[in-house]
Amino acid sequence: MNDDYYELLGVSRDASTEEIKKAYRKLARTLHPDVNPDPEAAEKFKKVSQAYETLSHADKRRQYDMGGGPGMGGFPGGGGAGFDFNDIFDMFAGASGMRGRNQGPVPRQRRGGDVLRRVKIELRDVVFGTEQEVTFRTAVLCERCSGSCAEPGTSPTRCTACNGSGHVQRVQQSLLGQMVTMAPCPTCEGHGDVIESPCTGCSGHGRTATERTVTVRIPSGVENGTRIQLRGEGETGEAGGPSGDLFVELSVKDHEMFDRSGDDLVTTISVPMTTAALGATIPLETFDGEQELDIRPGAQPGEEILLKGLGVTPLRRERRGDIRVVLDVDVPSALTDEERELLERFAALRGDEATRPKNHGGPFAKLRERLNL
Ligand SMILES: [Zn+2]
Ligand SMILES: [Zn+2]
Repeated sequence: MNDDYYELLGVSRDASTEEIKKAYRKLARTLHPDVNPDPEAAEKFKKVSQAYETLSHADKRRQYDMGGGPGMGGFPGGGGAGFDFNDIFDMFAGASGMRGRNQGPVPRQRRGGDVLRRVKIELRDVVFGTEQEVTFRTAVLCERCSGSCAEPGTSPTRCTACNGSGHVQRVQQSLLGQMVTMAPCPTCEGHGDVIESPCTGCSGHGRTATERTVTVRIPSGVENGTRIQLRGEGETGEAGGPSGDLFVELSVKDHEMFDRSGDDLVTTISVPMTTAALGATIPLETFDGEQELDIRPGAQPGEEILLKGLGVTPLRRERRGDIRVVLDVDVPSALTDEERELLERFAALRGDEATRPKNHGGPFAKLRERLNL
């Protein structure tokens, strides 16, 4: 930032404008990106151009010599003045809608946008993980020009309006006198070069729109709303710029039988009162095929039966969760005469009373009290 402009150009502090020009041209012949592909040279060329830009104009050179010019941090040691030249400079630069200082050509390359796609997956996919194809419309590299934006066989030419610097001077009158600010070159839109024959495949953007299909690996244990990031699978950048990312947001469909609870799968099954009382082994369909569910004799409503290791495999871990089966007991509501007789006999055998209010604090105790039952 604070390179000395005279040093950069290799001229003395009292060099004439002509000497400065000569020095710049000499440097440009070895550093210009057209003759020197080295990125370091390009960087140096930018700095040298900036130095030349400043020192070749009397006004700017004066500002620079005063210590308030482009690239310098205000008045050196001018603490008590309460006046910072850069503030004024910024003010004018801002008023004309640009920050013209320290600007080289603006590269055409721009990063491609990110793409977000929502994908619905089944609970089974959460249990085992899966792969899914995602198809979306997006920008891809233009095959005709490979992102160069220029028609094959042609190449961008240096902008003559700004001499490849990407910016032009703008002179404004102000209270302090003439202010010189930089503006992006309107001829090349600040790129420093002009594409005279834009690629016909992409109208000079270096990319075209198409439908793409990407296979996404979805690990087990993902949550509803999990976003998977696929770096570089989004839109291709403009003019061969880097690609954006693809984000795949997962939404897990409800399953007719199982709910997920952490790494466990939970389901409720209804068994007849007699099954609960007598016990039974019943089949249960799981993601690992049919399993046998043992209901112990005398199982109670709300009781949980565990099928170990048949739940979800958590993200980045080996051990699977369990299946938890919650028992619901069906009490028959419409009885035939025969069934009623049998149940009455059963009740009599057990000495069950028709009503047996629990007066020791059951949920209906208060109500019963109030009704004087
Ligand atoms: Zn093209
Ligand atoms: Zn230009």
